[in-house]
Amino acid sequence: MKPLAAALILCAASALALPDPRFDDQSDKTPLVRKDAPPAAAPVEMDPRMWVEVEAPGKAERQAAVDAGISLEELAPGMAAGFAAPRALARAKAAGLKIRSVVTLRQRFGSLDFPEKDALYHNDQELKAEMLSLAARAPDLVSMFSIGKSTLGKDLWAVRLTRGAAGDQPSAKPGIVFLGAHHAREHLSTEVPLLLAKYLVDNRDQPEIARLLESRDIYFIPMVNPDGVEYDVEGGRYHMHRKNMAKNGDGSTGVDLNRNYSWGWGGGGASLDPDDDTYRGPSPFSEPESRAVKTFVEGRPNLKVLLSYHTFSELILYPWGGSDDPIPDAKALAAFKAMAGEMARMTGYTPEQSSALYIATGDTCDWAWGKKGIFSFTFELTPKSMWNGGFYPGANAIQTTFQANIRPALYLIDLADDPRRAATQTKVFAAAPASKSQGETIP
Ligand SMILES: [Zn+2]
Repeated sequence: MKPLAAALILCAASALALPDPRFDDQSDKTPLVRKDAPPAAAPVEMDPRMWVEVEAPGKAERQAAVDAGISLEELAPGMAAGFAAPRALARAKAAGLKIRSVVTLRQRFGSLDFPEKDALYHNDQELKAEMLSLAARAPDLVSMFSIGKSTLGKDLWAVRLTRGAAGDQPSAKPGIVFLGAHHAREHLSTEVPLLLAKYLVDNRDQPEIARLLESRDIYFIPMVNPDGVEYDVEGGRYHMHRKNMAKNGDGSTGVDLNRNYSWGWGGGGASLDPDDDTYRGPSPFSEPESRAVKTFVEGRPNLKVLLSYHTFSELILYPWGGSDDPIPDAKALAAFKAMAGEMARMTGYTPEQSSALYIATGDTCDWAWGKKGIFSFTFELTPKSMWNGGFYPGANAIQTTFQANIRPALYLIDLADDPRRAATQTKVFAAAPASKSQGETIP
């Protein structure tokens, strides 16, 4: 891991070394009763969460902060900081953590009102329109379908790129899926998979791209949490919202979808308190969004690779997130490390096991690898830190971040036929990027 020069964010970390079959048995358990209407937008001035900085000389303190329910977003030598609901702050104090400072979100982030200048980002309806347009442009190649409904009833849209199969039709071709926006405020994580789908369509006549579209089954689900995204930009201002819009039994809102998967669910780094940003939910797969991803994956045994985009910190993470142990399959681990290392060279991001900064359980990738044997990565996209824009880096970040992520995506699509070959093959996918600015962020 690189030295933490300024700050790091981690929204992803996640899972456990050993499966617990009880969790999947419970996966269809009825979630807590919820109201239909979303809560009214709360201005940042009224948000009860605080921005808390704690002394954290090592991983033990970071873990204690996460386990208290603080959603850690910044790490620097000797310190860690993040969002804390009042009860999480009290637990952190009770756990003996030394609190350096506590400020309101308004004091930390200012007024947070600028979505007009970020109009290039896609909301749920704009995303759907872009996908429909793609499917209309290349009907022989592109199909679109919903993998399920969100908590508030929105469709969770997927776009599929392959020749010879459309929509829900099964395929024997090696499959790969790119996921975005498990976390609402991480808007770049929607833009990157959407732009990748457009890139493949735009360049479908390039020989190497044509080969991939012919021989692979490629899915993009750019917005897993449309309810949360809508809320995060409601009223033309950002709300720093992470979770979905489930109405919890205690009156609080939202479950952290990336703590709601069954592998290792209920372990460290995922909160039991519904008020916390990292609330794991009442049971594994309690949420319709995570359940839809589960059903999607389980229905496609041809899937070999999964990439879940998040922001931010510029990291490439591989399982486990819920345990410091390495995955037990040494050959697979070698492949994971080779792939993460290669993609790090392409992007300048840092490769590491997901649990490196702290353990967090119940994420997408630990489940997809642990339960399904799918080679699964979490990318924490740009920026590098809170100081470069954090969750809201502005419209200019869209193109540069997308460009930096073309080659890793092509590399993974190519490897989907046999990801384990990454451990022994040094030749990487050689498709020429279509855009001249592609190499800007590659060291
Ligand atoms: Zn995230």
